[in-house]
Amino acid sequence: MTTLLTTTDVARLVARLGLPTVMRRMADYIAADFRRWDAFEKCARLASHSDVGVIELMPIADAREYSFKYVNGHPKNTREGLPTVMAFGVLADVDTGRPSLVSELTLTTAIRTAATSALAARHLARPGSRRMALIGNGAQGEFQALAFHYLLGIDEIRLYDVDPAATDKLVAHLSAVPGLRLVRCASTREAVRGADIVTTVTADKTNATILTPDMVEPGMHINGVGGDCPGKTELAAGVLAMADVFVEFEPQTRIEGDLQQMPADFAVTELWRVLAGRSVGRVDEQQVTVFDSVGFALEDYAALRLLRDCAAELGLGAPAGLIPDLADPKDLYGHLMQDAAGLRKAA
Ligand code: NAD
Repeated sequence: MTTLLTTTDVARLVARLGLPTVMRRMADYIAADFRRWDAFEKCARLASHSDVGVIELMPIADAREYSFKYVNGHPKNTREGLPTVMAFGVLADVDTGRPSLVSELTLTTAIRTAATSALAARHLARPGSRRMALIGNGAQGEFQALAFHYLLGIDEIRLYDVDPAATDKLVAHLSAVPGLRLVRCASTREAVRGADIVTTVTADKTNATILTPDMVEPGMHINGVGGDCPGKTELAAGVLAMADVFVEFEPQTRIEGDLQQMPADFAVTELWRVLAGRSVGRVDEQQVTVFDSVGFALEDYAALRLLRDCAAELGLGAPAGLIPDLADPKDLYGHLMQDAAGLRKAA
């Protein structure tokens, strides 16, 4: 039977295990799957664009399991009472095609994106980094802040959002986190001054320039999360030109990432190579590094595996009844008749 995990199940899972543990386990699962890079059949995601947003399908498979995520990106949504990003996903057995898990992935995407960012920063930021600027304090904001606090030891976060109410919300949520100092700033420039790490996680369907080369200091690591769609970028091209740039899956990032602004021969390194010890990450204290994050299907595959394992440990989830349970697998029509008869009787 297929298991269904709702947003309530995932919230319970996080409440039972604690967010620091879930973030750590998520980063471990993602790292383990990135290290098995060659075992996966990979493709760039399939995107359906409109003037106001995008709806995407993100499939991936190894020899045992297949997954896909449905996800949208609509920066205007928050004005209409809906999140910018909403998602769900499926894990299935390759051997039979049977879906084993259907899960919410809106909360989970925020956790997996933040865990991936922190995982990349572990290899790309200066050792001993303590101060991060967080530009964009919307739905993803707290998750990014906490992942860097729990997984990297960041203890000061300098906040800026064009919408002060978004920063108010983040401060209200995180001001009691032990050992985490939040500093409200009046501009991006003020927030990034003196930061070891700069995370940009804004949403606007435009080629924005949140970060320009004159704001970048030697040795900074930039975690660019919000530039993830054609025509939607956050970093000025000059920032990429002055940095060593790391990406998830190069063919997808060339289309969707801040990298879309650069010539086709601009060199980048895929993150899996660093995690697998095939390429170096940061080489010195002065180097500027960029993780041009767009979100890759392998992170959702790892996240679905983690949800499945944690739900089994904790006894969470319910049977989904998605696939007919047939006494004779060739008698689908008989199943329809049986269900129809049952419904007529009940009416
Ligand atoms: P959101 O709409 O909840 O929050 C975005 C925030 O950015 C808002 O508070 C907005 O006021 C702020 N903002 C917009 N322009 C700004 C500017 N110029 N300067 C400062 N702040 C600005 O969206 P969200 O769910 O937090 O997502 C943020 C971005 O992250 C989106 O672009 C989304 O597509 C992207 N995202 C990427 C990944 C990934 O894997 N890379 C995953 C999830 C979301």
